[in-house]
Amino acid sequence: MSKIYTYQSAAPTDQMLLTDIMDLDIGAQVDVQAFLTRDLVEVIQDRNELAGRYARDPDQPWMTCRLCGGAVMLVLTQQRLFHFRHHTSEEGVRDCPISTRGAFSADQINRMKYNAAKESVAHQTLKRIIRDSLYADVHCSEPEVEKVWRGMPVAERATWRKPDVQVYRATQRFAFEVQLSTTFLTEIVGRREFYRLNGGAIIWVFQGFNPHETRTAEEDIFYLNNLNVFIVNDHTLARSLEAERMVMVCWYAVPHINGRIIVNEWITQEITLDQLTVDTDRQLVYFYDYLTHRKALETSIGEAALRQQFHDFWRTLSPQYEKDAEQAWIPLRARINDVLPHLELPQSFDDGHFHGVVSIVLSARYGEPVGYRWPRLLNVANHAYDHYKAYLLPFGWTLDAFNQHEMLLAQDTNKTWQKRRALIRSALKGHAPAFQQDVQYNTVLAFLVPEIKDRLKENRRW
Ligand SMILES: [Zn+2]
Repeated sequence: MSKIYTYQSAAPTDQMLLTDIMDLDIGAQVDVQAFLTRDLVEVIQDRNELAGRYARDPDQPWMTCRLCGGAVMLVLTQQRLFHFRHHTSEEGVRDCPISTRGAFSADQINRMKYNAAKESVAHQTLKRIIRDSLYADVHCSEPEVEKVWRGMPVAERATWRKPDVQVYRATQRFAFEVQLSTTFLTEIVGRREFYRLNGGAIIWVFQGFNPHETRTAEEDIFYLNNLNVFIVNDHTLARSLEAERMVMVCWYAVPHINGRIIVNEWITQEITLDQLTVDTDRQLVYFYDYLTHRKALETSIGEAALRQQFHDFWRTLSPQYEKDAEQAWIPLRARINDVLPHLELPQSFDDGHFHGVVSIVLSARYGEPVGYRWPRLLNVANHAYDHYKAYLLPFGWTLDAFNQHEMLLAQDTNKTWQKRRALIRSALKGHAPAFQQDVQYNTVLAFLVPEIKDRLKENRRW
């Protein structure tokens, strides 16, 4: 099967009515343009969070209209663009000079009616498949269809939901909801909140899924659910009966780095209910933990950017000690330590030992003097031999990783380096004390040249 990758960035609508939005978490105005042109995953998650926080407590909204103070929500249009509007519960009650009351067009209403009629048959079929698959699962209690699930009272009001199918697996209670196309975000977050408060786990089940043609109502669910989508059909039912476990097809996204952005690879796989991770606090039921993997990638993108900044700094600023360089070093060091607090960077980049170690290794990395004003890499190699014997190993590994040996030998017309290489080899073999690796800067070197990370870990000491 060919691989399916998706990447989408969000975009705002042209005619945005509400543009003065306050973020109450940070007490500052939202840059609406920037907010709405990020990665689609992030914007949809924020849209869900916005709706979810309002559902939890309408008195503590995340974002409000600056003109009237009313809570706002994010609308995703049919054209897949975003805009802010007053929350539907607050529209028209606060005398805002801007009205964002949206009305459905006759067309939209007809389409909704048509879909509702078409879905009722599909809905019945999927409910039956879910129920029968759960019957087949030896680890589950007897499933119940459209039975009321009573929750804890909220603000002294009784709460309840009526999931399509519900079941217990050991002590975990599951609600299965068939998702066709008519469930709105407010309803979705309302149900999530209900099950979160009541320790339940909700599994939304789709009829089919195509990562290239996702609909808004589907996105509201899978972006909320760690980008895992579940499907049942006659085939999965047959498999459930065979396996005596509820079998579903799971579509899940695996994040990959493509340059500076993260793209999603969509993978489909047959899974059983007992393979799913249930996190009722976050209302997630998933097979593959997309968000955790994505976070790791974001960190590595952040690290790569900082590494680049460090290299750029060293290549352009450090050859001569200058006030400018010292001033640029301080914020760079702070930025790196924000993300990588374990990295020990000196107050001054020109600290004798540190400066030399970084310079020889980065010179090996780039095949030319970095941090020194000599003409050729050979000068750096000889300097390393004379003054940094304890760092010849990382220097050599970096030469290896970037295929610099040939160039170095070509520059070595009177063969000093060739002789010294032989001396280094036998000194290392004979564990000569002066050549023992100094590991003090290993974490810094692993950050600067990740290509030699594994060899640095070997920690050769004698
Ligand atoms: Zn307003």
